[in-house]
Amino acid sequence: MRLILLGPPGAGKGTQAKNLTEAYNIPQLSTGDILRSAIRAGTPLGLQAKAIVDRGDLVSDEIVNGIVSDRIDQEDARNGFILDGFPRTIPQAEALERMLEEKAMKLNAVVEITADAETLTRRIINRAREGAKTSGARADDNEEVVRNRLNVYREQTAPLVEYYRTKGLLKTVDGMAPVEEVTAAIMQAVKE
Ligand code: AMP
Repeated sequence: MRLILLGPPGAGKGTQAKNLTEAYNIPQLSTGDILRSAIRAGTPLGLQAKAIVDRGDLVSDEIVNGIVSDRIDQEDARNGFILDGFPRTIPQAEALERMLEEKAMKLNAVVEITADAETLTRRIINRAREGAKTSGARADDNEEVVRNRLNVYREQTAPLVEYYRTKGLLKTVDGMAPVEEVTAAIMQAVKE
């Protein structure tokens, strides 16, 4: 099973990806998680990405395409994967298509998780407050950065919805439903 989870920040892509990894026994591939761990570890990639991620802007297509290409070559991704947070631009989607073609792999579906902007902003700010208590706060979870991330989504990532609809791969689920219901809806949509 090869899936892309698409949706604005805070729509629950990460949470859903985690539920789906258990259901399908395939890994979650989150470019955001990979970038954050590179930043924590202070690797050259992390140093390059830090300021961009902290502002809520997008890291270059070249960097994230490289991350994804390496990651899907790993053994645990042979039977499939759930892409969470990639692709985020049309050029990334085109690069992914080329990568998969080269590896003779096919996408099963692209699941759009919808959510309204107000709820999203609230969710992410709450996540930041909770994170701050346990000192696991994300530097990109303050209100100004959250608004920037939502704008970046609208301008650069939302066009992917039409892109994948045209390819006949798009499924849409309501991300405002309770977490377990959203997971069930995704699994149902992917089956259809
Ligand atoms: P996420 O955890 O998916 O919300 O990603 C956190 C941050 O990592 C984003 O705001 C971007 O700065 C960066 N990032 C993650 N995935 C991508 C991507 N596919 N393209 C560019 N930047 C990304």
